[in-house]
Amino acid sequence: MSVTAPIHDISGKDGERTNLIGLDRAGLADELRKMGVAERALNMRVSQIWHGLYVQGASGFEPITTISKEMRQQLAERFSLARPDITQEQISIDGTRKWLIRLSDGTGGSGPEIETVYIPEESRGTLCISSQVGCTLTCPFCHTGTQKLVRNLEAREIVEQVLIARDRVGEWPGASASDQTGLPEAERKITNIVLMGMGEPLYNFDNVKQAVEIICDGDGLGVSKRRVTLSTSGIVPEIGRWGAEVGTMLAISLHAVRDELRDELVPINRKFPIAELLEACRTYPDVRNAKRITFEYVMLKGVNDSLNDARELVRLLAGIPAKINLIPFNPWPGSPYECSDWEQIEAFAEIVNRAGYASPVRTPRGRDIMAACGQLKSASVKERASQRRLAGAVPSGEVSGP
Ligand code: SAH
Ligand code: SF4
Repeated sequence: MSVTAPIHDISGKDGERTNLIGLDRAGLADELRKMGVAERALNMRVSQIWHGLYVQGASGFEPITTISKEMRQQLAERFSLARPDITQEQISIDGTRKWLIRLSDGTGGSGPEIETVYIPEESRGTLCISSQVGCTLTCPFCHTGTQKLVRNLEAREIVEQVLIARDRVGEWPGASASDQTGLPEAERKITNIVLMGMGEPLYNFDNVKQAVEIICDGDGLGVSKRRVTLSTSGIVPEIGRWGAEVGTMLAISLHAVRDELRDELVPINRKFPIAELLEACRTYPDVRNAKRITFEYVMLKGVNDSLNDARELVRLLAGIPAKINLIPFNPWPGSPYECSDWEQIEAFAEIVNRAGYASPVRTPRGRDIMAACGQLKSASVKERASQRRLAGAVPSGEVSGP
């Protein structure tokens, strides 16, 4: 299924109007103050708009009926609550949904696209959101890593991914069972959020922090921080800071147990080697059995999947309350690796399990729509690049990608 929407301006400025999504309460109050709202009314107005945006799911002022009609009109003249356009929605045979979202270029024109993925499971629904367009890091097994960083996402653009997902799965109060999404009610809930889409979230710390605080706000979207997981390739100095200032769950893209190999697979390891990374994990605030750190380990055939690697993994993580996620490598066109054989993954998992880790092998989801880990964005960049090349609009080579 494909939904194509008309492209209109989705920048912080919506035409002449400022979009209020992603501002914290102080930022909202500033905007209202500039508009001339009296100091004594500010808190009330902020709460009304906050509730409208994040509890009701309003994308305009009309439904926020706690505010008088006249005031709603004044607000609508200056401000917008509109979402960016979804340029494509794809649904996998396994129910995974992927949305391609068109960003603004900051001047009112249309900019790059990002991807957001929703993975419904029996007992939960996980939304995988992006923090950057592209990535500055260059992990060679990751498709996103073959693209240059285009830019950091604004807090607004991170929050919008959650709003759009809720719009599309029909999760706002009052959404009827017969709404456009067709999702059965039991499958609708977005219970968990993972920052595992495109980009390295700790290299966009302030915006990701502001967005997560909004997503977890108890008077708004109300997702518990225990159900938000930030995945990092291991930006050591920012890990402790994230724990102290925000304190969500943490996932570490480990992928290798020796520095020599990790230098190659996760090149940021040259700056922050394994020992330093694990020390940052040991001292992550609040780490205990109930709040374990997830270690992600992508299974690359003949590269990091020996049984010795499995034993070393167990030895390395001793003493850290940990979960281990073995991720079958998701191939992409031209990728230099292959996924480990299934028997090898099972033998590897057996060693990890025997050491006391309940380590589910993560079943790849949404592979048919290129929505699985490490597959994001590139296909759409490539597709569009080749379309543009066909149209003669840009010379080949201008769009990064493999
Ligand atoms: N930059 C962050 C978060 C985004 S990547 C990080 O690296 O942690 C999310 C997860 O997908 C990471 O564990 C990453 O290593 C993994 N991944 C990337 N490419 C993959 C691929 N082709 N197959 C399987 N997992 C992949
Ligand atoms: Fe960036 Fe993470 Fe991909 Fe590495 S695995 S290139 S850090 S998105």
